[in-house]
Amino acid sequence: MTRCLDCGSPRTADQCPVCGLTSAAAEVMFRRRFLKRTGVFLAGSLVFPYVSQVYPPLDIDLMLVVFGVVFFVVLTLAVILDRRARKHQELEMLKHVYSGFILLPWILAATLFVNGRLDSQKNVAYHTAVVDGRYNMPGIVRGTRRLIVRSWREGQKYERLAVDADDYDRFKPGDQVNVGVEPGALGIPWYYGVYRR
Ligand SMILES: [Zn+2]
Repeated sequence: MTRCLDCGSPRTADQCPVCGLTSAAAEVMFRRRFLKRTGVFLAGSLVFPYVSQVYPPLDIDLMLVVFGVVFFVVLTLAVILDRRARKHQELEMLKHVYSGFILLPWILAATLFVNGRLDSQKNVAYHTAVVDGRYNMPGIVRGTRRLIVRSWREGQKYERLAVDADDYDRFKPGDQVNVGVEPGALGIPWYYGVYRR
């Protein structure tokens, strides 16, 4: 038994008994929706790394890895969906899994935005630290610059601070600094700034 690519109803003839579309027309409808959803996902995938630099969580690299995995899974699903749709094969289940991923980058971005935006500057706590190292990796969205300092958090060895270009150039290994950290309105601590001691 196959299902209609558009409405998902079981069908025995080429024309769907529920929505009335032929299998070719249903594929066109499916593709239109599929492209729109993929567009929403890709837009979110640009917004999330951007927000993650405006209100960078201390665990930014962990979040970026999780996001990278999601991105890879969604692209793989998109290729499989496209191939199966072309062959008019069953894809109800995959369609639902795919939809579930579409808003994820937006949810991550909104979480970081609210976490930072609703936090008060009065909450900044300063931690003394010494710059241990730094690295710079050029990228699509403003690149990745990190100052590495010994961590003040329990169970955490280093902090990789998501600094901007100015701060990146301003500090060298061995510099004594104060690191400003905000607790986050949603409880996700984020990096506020780094200052010379
Ligand atoms: Zn149908």
